[in-house]
Amino acid sequence: MSDDLFNQLHFDHAQGHIWLAGRRMMMIHARAFGLLRHEVIEAVGLDKARGVFTRQGYNSGAMDAEIAAKVRPDATIEQMFAVGPELHMLEGMVRTDPVSVKVDTATGTFAAEYIWRGSTECEAHLELFGRGAYPAGWSQIGYASGYASVFLGRPILFREVECVAMGHECCRIVGRPADEWQDGDGDVRYMRGSQLGEVSPAHLPRGKPILGRQIVGASAGFNVAFDLLGHVADTDAVVLFSGESGVGKEIFARNLHAMGRRAAGPFIAVNCAAIPENLLEAELFGVERGAFTGANVSRPGRFERASGGTLFLDEIGTLSLAAQGKLLRAIQEGEFERVGGTKLQESDVRLVAATNSDLRAAVEAGTFRADLFYRLNVFPIRIPPLRERRADLPLLMEHFLALYAERHGRRVTGFEESAIAAMLGYDWPGNIRELENVIERGVIMARDGEPLRQHHLFSGGEILGPPVWRPQGGSLQPPGSDPGAAAALVDAGLDLATVEKQMIERALANASGNRTRAARQLGITRSQLIYRLSAGRARDERNSN
Ligand SMILES: [Zn+2]
Repeated sequence: MSDDLFNQLHFDHAQGHIWLAGRRMMMIHARAFGLLRHEVIEAVGLDKARGVFTRQGYNSGAMDAEIAAKVRPDATIEQMFAVGPELHMLEGMVRTDPVSVKVDTATGTFAAEYIWRGSTECEAHLELFGRGAYPAGWSQIGYASGYASVFLGRPILFREVECVAMGHECCRIVGRPADEWQDGDGDVRYMRGSQLGEVSPAHLPRGKPILGRQIVGASAGFNVAFDLLGHVADTDAVVLFSGESGVGKEIFARNLHAMGRRAAGPFIAVNCAAIPENLLEAELFGVERGAFTGANVSRPGRFERASGGTLFLDEIGTLSLAAQGKLLRAIQEGEFERVGGTKLQESDVRLVAATNSDLRAAVEAGTFRADLFYRLNVFPIRIPPLRERRADLPLLMEHFLALYAERHGRRVTGFEESAIAAMLGYDWPGNIRELENVIERGVIMARDGEPLRQHHLFSGGEILGPPVWRPQGGSLQPPGSDPGAAAALVDAGLDLATVEKQMIERALANASGNRTRAARQLGITRSQLIYRLSAGRARDERNSN
């Protein structure tokens, strides 16, 4: 196993996440997988079960193929191709020893033979079903086919020609372009549904370009919000987005507009917090010449300009009670008049609002009108903060990296390992807007042809959380627990108490004396920090007596 692949593995034990090259993984018991296979075979029959597991493996292989070029950009084609078999080992499926491998991406030439040893799948099958007349490495053969097909950009079919489940000493697999197999159709049918030769769309990032931006995500929290968007888009119902600052409420609103039947009409956004109280009415409803000092010309308001389209009212919770009353009237009666005007105009807008405050609490506190709240709260969509949808981070990181590299004309080669670890472990209090800023800053700071490093990204005073676990010297270590550093400390004759004291002092200095931030930097709680501080002081007093 090469270090470059092992280093792609991160365990974020605080979040319960395992990452491989920016993709979320999970560990399951090999025996449970064997029992699952058994149950599926019993339920749907051998042939259908084989198809299900082949496609599952195909999709995994296809996803790993996307990693290959990223991890080994400068390697030979053979070294790059070897990423697949090595990852398959790292993922715990099977040890793959090459017999012969010919791969040429320029001509699409491919011919390969491997020996599998200790196959999880074939051994589980042998245990549960005994020796049979057919090979049993279905998911694994799917993986090899999916990996090679995406790598080569053409359908490659692997076959298991010998298998321990058939009584052979080890399993042997042979891969060729699908059209070179005489009776290739027989096995190709197991790949159907996984789009042989193509990456399955199931794992591609969702989203469509809106005004040069994309709505990007794959996490459960994102999908819930996105599905709600799909349900309500083609109606004219009022939608109320809620979520912390920076979660992308306006981008969701723009998507809602673009997906709906008013897409050809205008999308007009108003940030209610940015307009002074005394100008708000004129801004929303327009003004007739001479209505007040300074109103030298008549002009339409946002309601008029949004006619036939969508009116997006951001930070609606900041409206004064007076402004809320005027807005309520326009919504309730479906008509409004310009300030200083006499002509009633019909409003033809779809209203979308957003808030980062708790409007229900504001209603209870008497700062937000209950009747307006119920008019707005027809179809609420909560957009979760980024720390609750960390599975979106890899997609968002790639998205913003490509966006800002292009915008600033920089040639950056991705993220360095420690930078990825830091980004996955960070809490993102400013949400997607903060992530976007951090990456834009990093792109500007990084040198051409180099990856973004941690110090390029986190140079704006962000406080990094406890780090994720990373592989080191064949085992997993929390980074920072560099075995070399530990050896140096012990060799220097420092004792634990001294090291602890110095670490705490250093963290407190970094955090300008703020104990919460210092504790976070040390990966302990604030009360643990306070306890250790007092224990340290007691120790010092004992020593000086
Ligand atoms: Zn086998």
